[in-house]
Amino acid sequence: MSDHIYLSSPHMSDEGYELEYVHDAFQKNWIAPLGENVNEFENTMKAYIGAKNAVALSAGTAALHLSMICAGVGRGDKVFCQDLTFSASANPITYVGAEPVFIDSERETWNMDPAALKKAIAIHGIPKAVVVVHLYGNPAKLDEICEICDTYNIPLIEDAAEALGSAYHGRKCGTFGKYGILSFNGNKIITTSGGGMMLCKDGSDARHALKLATQAREPFLWYQHEEIGYNYRMSNICAGIGRGQMKVIDNRIKQKQAINRAYKEYLAGLPLTFQPVTQNAEANCWLTSVLLDKGCGVDPLEITDMLTKENIESRPIWKPMHSQPVFRDAAYVTAEDTAVADDLFNRGICLPSDTKMSLEDVERVCRIIRTMF
Ligand SMILES: *Cc1c(COP(=O)(O)O)cnc(C)c1O
Repeated sequence: MSDHIYLSSPHMSDEGYELEYVHDAFQKNWIAPLGENVNEFENTMKAYIGAKNAVALSAGTAALHLSMICAGVGRGDKVFCQDLTFSASANPITYVGAEPVFIDSERETWNMDPAALKKAIAIHGIPKAVVVVHLYGNPAKLDEICEICDTYNIPLIEDAAEALGSAYHGRKCGTFGKYGILSFNGNKIITTSGGGMMLCKDGSDARHALKLATQAREPFLWYQHEEIGYNYRMSNICAGIGRGQMKVIDNRIKQKQAINRAYKEYLAGLPLTFQPVTQNAEANCWLTSVLLDKGCGVDPLEITDMLTKENIESRPIWKPMHSQPVFRDAAYVTAEDTAVADDLFNRGICLPSDTKMSLEDVERVCRIIRTMF
């Protein structure tokens, strides 16, 4: 039996940097809640990504939730959210009592279609916020989307959970929106075992988010509360893992990009196309994803089944939010007559993109896929 190949799994540094920082926290008895690791992880991330403000949190989902609150989203408000994404992009809209309106994708990046966004404004009016996602680490059409949001003064929340290290016009994803969020969940490009970060342009938002994340204590000696708080702060242990992971992030991105190039080489000639990268964008290639040609005679699920039998993980593309039972009542806007997101879901597949894979492993995966055609 060959070794298991994962879709994307935690990958600690060979040097053991993560353990050093965790050990340091133990020695200083600074396990939780705060401490040097949290501050330094935030500082390292700010420098790496070019963000003005960063707040380390327990999850990317928590960062989205606090971004909603900071953007002033509340009961009955509408938030326009990319349709083709993981449910965590959309769930926080409902946490604050607002309603999602899902926006279809375009075919040039698989992300939010600016034409559908404009159409949604015409139909539903100006939303309280827009949530754009860089699917699988591939930057959305940020020029167009930022321009629309600027025109109507709509706060943009950039879900860069999968796109740490990706760039657009040379600027890192997560810094374009008024708010940006990162995830350090176990399958992401770096992990803290679980965690996230909120990035924001305004220092006042960062101070508010930090306060909300730590039970919303007012600055009094006694416990005084004037708004509802949350327990969302990242622990000093998790932040230690994050500090160690930051030392290898550039390497991890290079590995992901090498895996992507190898797939392009070994799958050449088959009736499929790769997720396209738009002009002026650089993708971190978190998950290499392909679209099978219409009428090629192979169903993506046949490929995932075949790979599973060989102990290899792969996945369908995210199932669009508008076809999720839990969001059955939400509005959905497409620029074209039919939903692009549905077509991508029906024909797409995420290939294993684990940084612990060798290029020989990629070749093996491709050999198996070739037998299907
Ligand atoms: C992983 C992910 C999230 C959520 O991050 P967590 O840290 O798991 O809460 C949000 N959005 C997208 C697109 C993701 O892939």
